Formats: sequence, structure tokens, C-alpha cells
Amino acid sequence: MAPRYRGRFAPSPTGPLHFGSLIAALASWCDAKSHGGEWLLRIEDVDAARSRANAADDILSTLEAHGFEWDGSVVHQSARGALYQAALDELAHRNLIFECSCTRAELEAAPRGIGGERVYPGTCDETIGFADRVQGWHEQHLMRDVGDFVIRRADGLFAYQLAVVVDDALQGITHVVRGADLLASTPRQIWLQRQLGYPTPAYLHHAVALDALGMKLSKQSGAAPLTGNPVSALTRAWRFLDQRDPPSQPVAVREFWQWAHSAWDPRRLPPVAMLPHGIIGA
Ligand code: GLU
Repeated sequence: MAPRYRGRFAPSPTGPLHFGSLIAALASWCDAKSHGGEWLLRIEDVDAARSRANAADDILSTLEAHGFEWDGSVVHQSARGALYQAALDELAHRNLIFECSCTRAELEAAPRGIGGERVYPGTCDETIGFADRVQGWHEQHLMRDVGDFVIRRADGLFAYQLAVVVDDALQGITHVVRGADLLASTPRQIWLQRQLGYPTPAYLHHAVALDALGMKLSKQSGAAPLTGNPVSALTRAWRFLDQRDPPSQPVAVREFWQWAHSAWDPRRLPPVAMLPHGIIGA
């Protein structure tokens, strides 16, 4: 029988886990476990050039140090090329994709139609909407808002949009909980799911943390690795998500998780895409 709830955390191993990714891990874990669900871990190392040696191991040990336990074995995208190729073949068979040898600059300079949109074959000429559990209704007219998008690069690398759709479907993910920086990717993913005959999971996009300069905390922008006390980092992430404080400050990771498991309330999540994190008990 298919599980009622199967969630996942899907970090890209481009550097050590930081406060921004801890928020996504915490939100996805709490949401899965408070629904009696499973929480899977997937290392999104499809882009080998951007992945750093040892970053995946480092992420796993940081998660463990913060008391996370995942269900089943860890999946690595780098080992799943054949699955992505099969999905791509299916899309090709259905004439939904085309090869493009344009450079980025050429694409930018491509002629635009009356409405300003790029004149292109219009493969994805459709409006796709979905009800995000926190952000509400979100819709995009794919052709106008994003245009055709890359699913495999000229150098053979499968793009995130295709890999994530294949993985979420083949791993039986029913609920996706992740940062709102990916909200705008979701209609593309739903479009691919529909073309490939995959179910669409429920989506929850939580606010992402901004640094003092108003930039999203990310490994690329050098967000600090989580080297401090795990309970205080978890507590800061918990507060960032506007969850109820425990009656007394947990001292051990296990105490924190007991509270988080029972107190998680997704209705309290701030319905905004971005929030500065410095002001929240940093
Ligand atoms: N790998 C992506 C990241 O680290 C997350 C993808 C997802 O949750 O869909 O930002």
C-alpha cells in the first residue's frame, strides 16, 4: 500500500549544511513525522561539476549531529542517470522536447512576440497553478513566464527540473516541503509530472532565510557551516519558522525533537517567501 505521507530532504552537496538548509531539513522532517510519515534523504549531486568532494558526507554527519534520522537508504542523483534518460526518451517520443544549440546570449537576443515573450516553439504553452500549503495559490503561464526550459544540457548533464521530478515520482514522494526560492520552479515540475504521467505531490514552500545584506543564505554565497551547539541552531530554525516555544529551553537534541514532533504547526508558518534571519534570536 502506498504510504499516506512520504516526504524528503534533498540537499545539493555544493558545500556544508548551513542555517538555511537546516530550516528546510527541520520543516520537512517535522511535517513528515507529525503526519506519521516517512522522511527520505536524497543527495542532489546531479551536477557533478558543482558538487564538492566530501560535501555529501559532511551534510550527513551534520544532520546526524543535529539528531535527524532518515528512512531507508540515502539516494544519490549521480547514480540515477539511466532513470533520467528514460524520462527524457519518453518526452522525446511524445515530441515534447527539442534540441537547441543556441548559446545563452543567442537565447537572450531571440525575437520577442507582441506580448514581449520569446518566439519559440511553445512546447509548454499552458497555465499551471497549484495551491501551496503556505503560500496559497500560485500559477504561471509557462510560455510567458519562463519559456521553454532546459532539461538536459548540451554537455549531457540532466537539469535539476527533470531529475527532481523523476526522483520525487520514483521515490513515491507525496509531500514536498522546501524553501520558497523553489516556488517558481514548481509549475515547470508539475508540467513535467503531467507529461510523464506522474502524480503531483502536495507542496509547502516555507520562507527562506536572508542574511544581513538581504541575500538568501546559500552555500554559494558562503553561508557559515553549522559548527555550533546543535540545540541552539535547531531552536533558532524553529523560531524562524514561527513555531511555539517549548515550556523550557531544551538542553539535549532529543528533548528538542520530542517537543518539535508534537508541537509542529504548519498553520503558523509565515506565508512569505523571504525573511531576514538575524533578528530571530541569532
Ligand atoms: N537540491 C535543492 C537545493 O539544495 C532542493 C531541491 C528540492 O527540494 O526540490 O536547493
